[in-house]
Amino acid sequence: QQWSSNAIRSAFLEYFQEHGHTLVSSSSLVPSNDPTLLFTNAGMVQFKEVFLGLEERNYSRAVSSQRCVRAGGKHNDLENVGYTARHHTFFEMLGNFSFGDYFKHETIRYAWDFLTNVLGLPEDKLWVTVYEDDDEAANIWLEDLQVSPERFSRCGEKDNFWSMGDTGPCGPCSEIFYDHGPEVAGGPPGSPEADGDRYIEIWNLVFTQFDRDSQGHLHPIPKPSVDTGMGLERIAAVMQGVHNNYDIDLFQHLIKAIDALGAGDTDNQISRQVIADHIRSVAFLITDGVLPSNENRGYVLRRILRRAIRHGHKLGLRGPFFHKLVGPLGEKMGDAYQELLKKREAIEKIILQEEKRFAETLDQGLKLLEETVARLDGTEIPGEAVFKLYDTYGFPIDLTADIARERGLTIDNDGFRAAMDAQRARGRAASRFQMDMSKFPKIDKVTEFTGYDQTEQQTEII
Ligand code: ATP
Ligand code: MG
Ligand code: MG
Ligand code: MG
Repeated sequence: QQWSSNAIRSAFLEYFQEHGHTLVSSSSLVPSNDPTLLFTNAGMVQFKEVFLGLEERNYSRAVSSQRCVRAGGKHNDLENVGYTARHHTFFEMLGNFSFGDYFKHETIRYAWDFLTNVLGLPEDKLWVTVYEDDDEAANIWLEDLQVSPERFSRCGEKDNFWSMGDTGPCGPCSEIFYDHGPEVAGGPPGSPEADGDRYIEIWNLVFTQFDRDSQGHLHPIPKPSVDTGMGLERIAAVMQGVHNNYDIDLFQHLIKAIDALGAGDTDNQISRQVIADHIRSVAFLITDGVLPSNENRGYVLRRILRRAIRHGHKLGLRGPFFHKLVGPLGEKMGDAYQELLKKREAIEKIILQEEKRFAETLDQGLKLLEETVARLDGTEIPGEAVFKLYDTYGFPIDLTADIARERGLTIDNDGFRAAMDAQRARGRAASRFQMDMSKFPKIDKVTEFTGYDQTEQQTEII
């Protein structure tokens, strides 16, 4: 296959190096020195201080392929996995960057040249958007590059003003979409049906011009800069002629490995996709030093792990299986990410431990859930049951919500919270009488974390 994921990554890095960009390796998924960010969610994260003029580098153009996780924080795609053809919790972002060097003209030209000449994509399959009042970018597309106005639109802040998080570098952006054709459901960017998988956003060109402070005010940064991001898996789907990211070489390799473990007889594709997605985020998070725990980043990792284990159970896989996917992942990604190979045994061991731990309560928890659903009056799983699953059986609340959603049900979040508060109050009262609390099962005791804002904390950490 000419355009394997690995070949596309290499072509991208080469192209921009040929155009004066310094190759910079991917940084860790755990941002160094940035308490505002849960995980590295874009290529620009490691350059944040450079954009803000707080740090100098000996280059003003860079290119990278950055490992990213979007499973919490401002960009959270965990709930999309299994439901769209284009979202992963872990993905690679190919990006070129200019730190006060070139600006809109060159950025747009490079992107167009790479897509249409290097990759050879037909222009009439590409759709372009700009931020609503960005006439300069609009002119470059329409006048200089002669892109058809029929495949061009202006979009508002939600889509075409990019921010890393609630604070930090941001600016208007211009995006390139690929039209997967009328056999796929969905409408063009900016239309009400844009959320489908027909017109897939492949590349975001951000014109970084501002730093947003904690009050939400925008301050111009010292030099207008550029930050672009193209999802490797999405462009691989285009180049390999498939409409779903999970059909590309890399994911097919993982899905075959899942089948080889004994999942072969069910036609549940969604669970296969979720597992194939989650092994990547889990293996790379562990590589970068995150361990399953009940707090912060470790709890996000635990949630992803337990979701994957439950999907394996759905596929009929009994006994630990998830750790066995680290090897197949290394076969495809080990060349680009040597750490994965070097730490393979440690990663397997950590996953296996978590599998064993959750196995003790998974069956019983699922049984309780089945009984609750069978007795259900309406479509909402009561907070008491969600809490019991959480507290006694180690089901993170989003895991229960994931199971509920598969059946068209919802969970009672407020009721869950009330049950948790009641338990805390009981705990306090009990400890006044010095009862032996160690007899009470506590699997996922949550420690409050205050690094993120209040609304975030609720969905993230619990
Ligand atoms: P979408 O609108 O499809 O959710 P986005 O606008 O959130 O994407 P950006 O923040 O602009 O994405 O990120 C830049 C690029 O990274 C996207 O154009 C896409 O190619 C890729 N990308 C973003 N999120 C994901 C994801 N969850 N999985 C795979 N690729 C992604
Ligand atoms: Mg998104
Ligand atoms: Mg988008
Ligand atoms: Mg975007």
